[in-house]
Amino acid sequence: MTTPILTCTGCGATKPEPDGAPTDLFPSAHCGNCPPWTCETCGQTCSATALCPCWISLDGMTTADIKAIFAGDGTFNVNPVSNP
Ligand SMILES: [Zn+2]
Ligand SMILES: [Zn+2]
Repeated sequence: MTTPILTCTGCGATKPEPDGAPTDLFPSAHCGNCPPWTCETCGQTCSATALCPCWISLDGMTTADIKAIFAGDGTFNVNPVSNP
């Protein structure tokens, strides 16, 4: 039985087991196996090593921070620390 959350939604590549990367927690839209793609938001060409400006960098974030961005119900919360 595969674990869908480990499968890249861009190219379908599936990790055999959790490896500590953010894609353990949510499926990646694009991964290192994906060919360069065109961003639907800004139209620029993106790749795994050269993301377009509108991608949020997860580099340096702790797992807790990443979990805070992605709420328990799967809703993407781009600003979890905001206090309106
Ligand atoms: Zn991929
Ligand atoms: Zn973009």
